[in-house]
Amino acid sequence: MSKYWSDLVSQLKPYIPGEQPDIANITKLNTNENPYGPSPQVASAIQKLLNEDLRLYPPPNADGLRQVIANYYQLDPKQVFLGNGSDEVLAHIFNGLLQKSEPLLFPDISYSFYPVFCQLYGISFEQIPLAKDLSLAVEDYNRPNGGIIFPNPNAPTGRLLGLDAIEELLKDNPDSVVVVDEAYIDFGGETAVPLIELYANLLIVQTMSKSRSLAGMRIGYAMGSVDLIEGLERIKNSFNSYPLGHLPIAAGIAAFKDQEYFEATCQRVIDSRDRLTNNLHNLGFKVVPSAGNFIFVRHVKRAAEELALSLRQNGIIVRHFKQSRIEQFLRITIGTEKQNERLVSVLTSLLEG
Ligand SMILES: *Cc1c(COP(=O)(O)O)cnc(C)c1O
Repeated sequence: MSKYWSDLVSQLKPYIPGEQPDIANITKLNTNENPYGPSPQVASAIQKLLNEDLRLYPPPNADGLRQVIANYYQLDPKQVFLGNGSDEVLAHIFNGLLQKSEPLLFPDISYSFYPVFCQLYGISFEQIPLAKDLSLAVEDYNRPNGGIIFPNPNAPTGRLLGLDAIEELLKDNPDSVVVVDEAYIDFGGETAVPLIELYANLLIVQTMSKSRSLAGMRIGYAMGSVDLIEGLERIKNSFNSYPLGHLPIAAGIAAFKDQEYFEATCQRVIDSRDRLTNNLHNLGFKVVPSAGNFIFVRHVKRAAEELALSLRQNGIIVRHFKQSRIEQFLRITIGTEKQNERLVSVLTSLLEG
């Protein structure tokens, strides 16, 4: 607390990012980073750029990368908006498109940054309870609202919502912007991008942090109708016109061009997820079906917080949320095969003890 802070700053309860510990040999399964590095093409693209002129400002709309993403999804570049990580893109969306007189709706169990953005921008919201099996029922969103947002697959549950359900939501709420946060869509889900041409109220957010292994580069983007994207550009150009530097633009282009590497690494994560799911099931865990690069698990006998602590003492970090309904769950990022095996072997000895 400081007398120099505004009332808003004094009242904020900021988002707490998963920790990035500076410990060697730690098995880090807490923030859903990709266990594999980015495409090798990324390093050479950056290397090339270092010889060029970093003296100049980057293109304000990250043009080269914007074009590559537009081509990839068969959109017009005017339908793509880039930001410094999807968290920044989301901030502009909350600020520019979701500040309405009716409350914003999102699931009670979902990305914990959403209520923080609401607080920052003074947006009223209602959290709609997920069903007992942690699935989302679109009928529950049939109430007055100033917008709807949810991750698909959901975080931290991993549960996927089908395109038919998303289409129902778009039809039922034609006057609201419906934001689908597809941070994990490449790990087995189907993107809603093809629905953009049918629904002017659909906005899709993706990130290069997870499936494209570039969390350290901070690249996120939104895709939707030209109108929605223009709204976001108005906000961006009233805040920071150059959210992406030359390096992330080059890195992003290189990562998108290496489709083979992208598909191979996503598939490896998916195969490991299936294997880990089986192994944890055999150790007495209930595992929520996941379409992400993480699994949400609950042990039938052992308390989650205590398990997380014991894992940490063995050099393995997973994520535990002190939140009602999910305090007995752990969210575990899919690691390399070796990391997953280490997790299973440590858990095996912990649970025998
Ligand atoms: C990781 C994540 C983000 C943020 O991604 P960045 O692009 O790294 O800011 C957004 N939404 C969800 C649901 C996420 O899990």
